[in-house]
Amino acid sequence: MTETDVREVTGPRTFRNSTALVDNADPVWQAAADNGLINIAVDHESNNRLVVPATGHAFANMCSCSYLGLNRHPAVLDGVVKAVRDTGTIELMTSTTRIRPTIQLQLEEELGDLFGAHILLSTTCSTVTAGLLPLLASGHLAPGGPRVMIFDRYCHFSMSYVKATCAQESLVLTSGHNDIDFIADACRKYPSVAYIADGAYSMGGSAALEQLLELQDRYGLYLYLDDSHSLSIMGERGEGFVRSRTAPGPLTTIVTSLGKGFGSGGGLAMLHSAKQVELLARHGGPLGWSQNLSVPTIGAALGSAAIHRSPELGELQARLLANLAHFDELLPTPLSGNGLPVRRIDVGDAERAVRLSSELYQRGYYSSAVFFPIVPRGQAGLRVMIRSDMEHDELTTFAGHVTDLLAADPS
Ligand SMILES: *Cc1c(COP(=O)(O)O)cnc(C)c1O
Repeated sequence: MTETDVREVTGPRTFRNSTALVDNADPVWQAAADNGLINIAVDHESNNRLVVPATGHAFANMCSCSYLGLNRHPAVLDGVVKAVRDTGTIELMTSTTRIRPTIQLQLEEELGDLFGAHILLSTTCSTVTAGLLPLLASGHLAPGGPRVMIFDRYCHFSMSYVKATCAQESLVLTSGHNDIDFIADACRKYPSVAYIADGAYSMGGSAALEQLLELQDRYGLYLYLDDSHSLSIMGERGEGFVRSRTAPGPLTTIVTSLGKGFGSGGGLAMLHSAKQVELLARHGGPLGWSQNLSVPTIGAALGSAAIHRSPELGELQARLLANLAHFDELLPTPLSGNGLPVRRIDVGDAERAVRLSSELYQRGYYSSAVFFPIVPRGQAGLRVMIRSDMEHDELTTFAGHVTDLLAADPS
């Protein structure tokens, strides 16, 4: 084989380039591994006390997405046991598109009522995105023909991961973060456009929803918004940032993970019509071919849904907000006061982020170092997620450590 032959089998790498990804990120992952910051196996006494059995090292989890602590709520755990006892199974192990247990139907109806939408359930939010976006690009999910797909530069990996597939169906573009002018220009240039973004961003901040809705009114812009980080924590019924401001419609789809604030597992799309649910179940790839939501997870979700209907939800949300306000006072960041639970302490350099995370871990706090490709190059930092089940004193102590360590290790 000649060198020319080898070059010919390299793909265009327009929307994915594993060499660049691995070459950039792996050294930092290795540094994290060398500092004992990944691959940690724990026993879970509470969200504030995880214990490594091998060494007895105990630490508080400062980066759990269980924002309301529902992952350990008795009603959620009871829901699991009840569902398994009632059905006597883990799952049907048959394509959901063909046969699904009535308890899943019950959950779909319950969530549909709670969030005011037609619900498509799946094992993860990533699966929903992988199945749905190509059918949005091709023009099957909504009328208007193939759609130009604009991905926000900061959208979650689960969405940008599907760019290459969408590019087989339509034109794929990447906008700057919240770059409304770019999106408006594309709306004027192309007949059919969709914008794909987080509602509440996994690295903090939110979509420019009001301006996006204006573009939708004016140009028929389709909005695909992933609100995994605001479900449960916002809205009277925990419907999240986007759903409390707008409804699923012919041009709006909201998707979310149930494996974060909601405290169960699984993912869903809030859709406009039963017809869309049917189309996705039949043609949405992994939505139909892969395993279905397991019965224990369905039970957990039913338990969590009941909490979402009770006054307890508002109490938990209020406790979260109080903890956020306390944290923001101790450690002001550009995200302070935004009402969302993700905070980033920017440190710039990836190695410094790993050093700080390692020092904090030794002092009993796990706060993840985030670096490219999780965040853009040169914007590494520590990611902290605030929960309702943290104590004020604990937050104060943690913030003290962060302040000390930043001063001791200047950039
Ligand atoms: C965590 C996350 C996901 C992944 O959710 P799964 O249900 O685990 O697939 C998707 N989107 C966003 C914005 C996330 O933060």
